[in-house]
Amino acid sequence: MRLDNEKPSDNIEDRRGQGGGGGFNIPGGGGRRVNIPMGGRGGGFSVSTIILLVIAYFAIKLIFGIDLLQVINGGGLAPTGQGTEITLPGGDTQVTNADDTAGTGGGVTTTDVTTDAGRDFVARVLGSTERVWGKVFQDMGKTYEQPKLVLFSGFVQSACGTAQSAMGPFYCPGDHKVYIDLSFYQDMKNKLGAPGDFAQAYVIAHEVGHHIQNILGIADKVQQARMRADDATSNQLSVRMELQADCLAGIWGQEAGAANMLEQGDIEEALNAAAAIGDDRLQKKSQGYVVEDSFTHGSSEQRMRWFKRGLEARALGDCDTFSTDQL
Ligand SMILES: [Zn+2]
Repeated sequence: MRLDNEKPSDNIEDRRGQGGGGGFNIPGGGGRRVNIPMGGRGGGFSVSTIILLVIAYFAIKLIFGIDLLQVINGGGLAPTGQGTEITLPGGDTQVTNADDTAGTGGGVTTTDVTTDAGRDFVARVLGSTERVWGKVFQDMGKTYEQPKLVLFSGFVQSACGTAQSAMGPFYCPGDHKVYIDLSFYQDMKNKLGAPGDFAQAYVIAHEVGHHIQNILGIADKVQQARMRADDATSNQLSVRMELQADCLAGIWGQEAGAANMLEQGDIEEALNAAAAIGDDRLQKKSQGYVVEDSFTHGSSEQRMRWFKRGLEARALGDCDTFSTDQL
């Protein structure tokens, strides 16, 4: 990707170091208390309790494929439901110390997230989404209200509750912010087999897609419908939301192409990433089998297809995933 000509966005909130690591307060000597920001739960836990909880959490996640944090948050990292990005439900996808010293190889550029090149990259990608969506909204006679993007490490507080890195990037409709721990990019490359800077940019564009759904009122309507629906229907609505966000990311990608940001292989990178985070692929990886009714984001094939649809879209309506039988 070529982002040199893209103006970095001013809407970056850098909260790295304030989350997981920064939240720990261990005074020397006696009372070793660790305070973890727990979204209003308050209270401190002893270090051993924390370690036991963490071990139990990952054991349950690994063995049963149940993400307790999702359960605790009631699927409601975002209380309003959609927009929540549990992109990494797999038991093997927690963020560990992704030790990425290997070269990028294969001509694929992956942004170095260990330096502030990561921040600069994200700021430029966000800047490009502002430019693209600003224009689309202007054409509709509206003003685009830009989202903020929060960089965090470990844990983060949002209007949607407390989130941790392992859940992957997400958008919170309540505060109109996109949240991302840049270590997710290492996971994409090392654990999901989805390297590449355009793949990384697609992730941001997808979250911005959820922002678009939010400010257009789509998110609200879908949330209302989901509350009245049974589980299978509710999941289906979630899939439609996610595929629409992929399609909206495609519209951004189309503009990226027009602005000469794309290099050879970039589109393939993003399509590969879309496939890598398909529900079927992730479920197979984490539990060995696929339960279609439980899909919340769409299959690999669907995610690729809707991103592609966005790349070729002529109008926003081309991304209407709600009134089609051909999901
Ligand atoms: Zn999403």
